[in-house]
This record gives sequence, structure tokens and C-alpha cells, in this order.
Amino acid sequence: MGNDGGSIPDRRDLVKTKAKAEQADKQNQILAKWFYCALSKKPLQDPVVSCELGKLYNKDAIVEYLLDKTVYGDGARICGHVKSLKDVTQLRLTHNPAPPVANSDKPQAAYVCPLTLKEMNGALPFVYLSTCGCVFSAAGLRAIATPAENTPPSGSNSPPASKSTYSCPQCSKPYDRLTDVRTLNPMPEEEAGMREVMEEEAAPKTNATMATLTRKVALSLAEEEQKRKGKMTEAVASLYAPKNNSSNKKETFMTRGTFTRYA
Ligand SMILES: [Zn+2]
Repeated sequence: MGNDGGSIPDRRDLVKTKAKAEQADKQNQILAKWFYCALSKKPLQDPVVSCELGKLYNKDAIVEYLLDKTVYGDGARICGHVKSLKDVTQLRLTHNPAPPVANSDKPQAAYVCPLTLKEMNGALPFVYLSTCGCVFSAAGLRAIATPAENTPPSGSNSPPASKSTYSCPQCSKPYDRLTDVRTLNPMPEEEAGMREVMEEEAAPKTNATMATLTRKVALSLAEEEQKRKGKMTEAVASLYAPKNNSSNKKETFMTRGTFTRYA
């Protein structure tokens, strides 16, 4: 029954137990984020994609979701911002070359940074490039990042690459260091920032499209109006055109043929 003298847990034990439970919970959350698809909760399996918020998904789960938004109950909450496959980037992940460790209580990371071979297990920040999908540890990419060739080929009219244009260390595709590096599974504060960027990017696009559409509609309406007016003027003018004006070369249905008849 406890309370028999020897087994009264004191406060310290309780705090320790609570801390342990919290630690375990945190560990489980990390595992869930880095080893499982955020949508289907199945183990990550190639091809893996990521969204603008840096979440990891199995591509087939995203395809399933896009075909039927109700297939995963809380799909809209997890990836409501993914409207089409254009909103995700297929990741180029590097498989962990280390042999499986037997009897380990920690799951072994399936992927590593190709630059540092550090495991992608949530212990270190990892990023992907939205331009090519290559995945690196943030530190590895920072250490090796090289600006892209800054001078355009001679005779070319293209402007020189901007200062923030770098080459992907894995596939050499240029990327913008300021806008194309996305953190995988960011911390809440960083995720909030990424969400802001995503929403800002979406907003002007929509506004611009609307503005263009409005302008196009206004223009075509004005054109129509102009044409209508033009036709009217022509028709009206033809009605009042002087009949015996032989110098008037402009014939209309009212005057056509009159000269041959009366000349
Ligand atoms: Zn790349």
C-alpha cells in the first residue's frame, strides 16, 4: 500500500520522474518528426518531400492527400498549405552508410549530411535547398558554401549573379543563400517566421494576378467601348456625308455607287 515507512517517494523523486517523463516525451516528439511522415505517421521512405514549413512527408502520402483531402483526418491542419505538388520539394537525401547497430535503444538515422556524415536524427539542425532538394546539416552547408561564379559569360546580356547566389555543394545548381535555404523541422519560433514568409510570398502573387486580371478586363472593356463608338461614328458620319462631294474618297453604303449613277 506504500506509506509503510520505506517507500515514501519524496519530492525530489517525483520531480525526477516528471522530468524523465517529459524528457521521454520530447524524445518521442523528435523521433516522430525526423523518422516518420508528418502526414501518414508511417516511417519515412523514399521519395521524401518537404513543404515550405520544412516538414517531412512521404511523397505518396502527399499525393494521396491531394487526391482526397479527407483521407487523413487532420490533413488540413498538418499540410493545409500544400495545395499541389508544386508546393513541396522532393528531397535528395543521403542514406546513412553506417552499418545497423544491433540492440541499440535509439533508432538509427536513415539519412546523413553528405558533407559531414552527421546523422539526421533531430540532434542537429538540417536544411534543404528549395532549388534542388539537396539536404545538408546546417553547419556543413555553412562551412562549405561557395558563391556561384559571379561573372556572366562574355557577350552575355544576363546580369551577374547576385552576391547571395551560391552553388549547391552536391549538385552545383545555383541557389540563393537568403531565400532558398529551408530549415527542416524548425523550432516553433523559426516555423512561425517561415510561415510568415510563405504567406507573404503567396499574397503578392494573388494580388498581382488580380491586378493583372482587373487591368486586362478594364482594357478589353475600354477597347470594346472604343470599337463600338468608332463604328457608331463611322455609321453616323456616313449618314451625314455630303452627297455630291466628289472629292470625298470615302465611300459608304449610302454613297457607294451614287457617282456612277449621277455623274
Ligand atoms: Zn543540390
